[in-house]
Amino acid sequence: MASECLFCRIATGEIPSARVAESARCVAFRDVSPQAPVHVLVIPKAHVSSLDDVADDSLTAELLAMARDVARAEGLVDRGYRVVINTNVEGGQTVFHLHLHVLGGRRMQWPPG
Ligand code: AMP
Repeated sequence: MASECLFCRIATGEIPSARVAESARCVAFRDVSPQAPVHVLVIPKAHVSSLDDVADDSLTAELLAMARDVARAEGLVDRGYRVVINTNVEGGQTVFHLHLHVLGGRRMQWPPG
């Protein structure tokens, strides 16, 4: 764990969050500044800085499966939803602990800004 990392501290519970799902390696919690009626972040508990830093792609698959399960649990599947992974600066990443955004409950626009 990187002790100064915000999402590491959320993963341990040191910083509170509204959790919606948890497994041995991953946790999902509501974004503090939601950009849609449903906005959940899915993260690995262990520190991984970005998608490009994942060493074990079984973790990538587990994160994506949790994002899908969150979308199902939030009732987003029929209307549709979006999963986003902002990666590094031009990708819009601001917190350097890998996270998947699960966004839904409104019509998404394309292209993204
Ligand atoms: P990104 O810009 O892709 O790195 O996304 C970082 C996300 O983390 C943003 O959507 C923030 O609103 C969210 N965020 C920052 N601090 C917290 C927090 N303490 N709890 C939940 N979400 C947070």
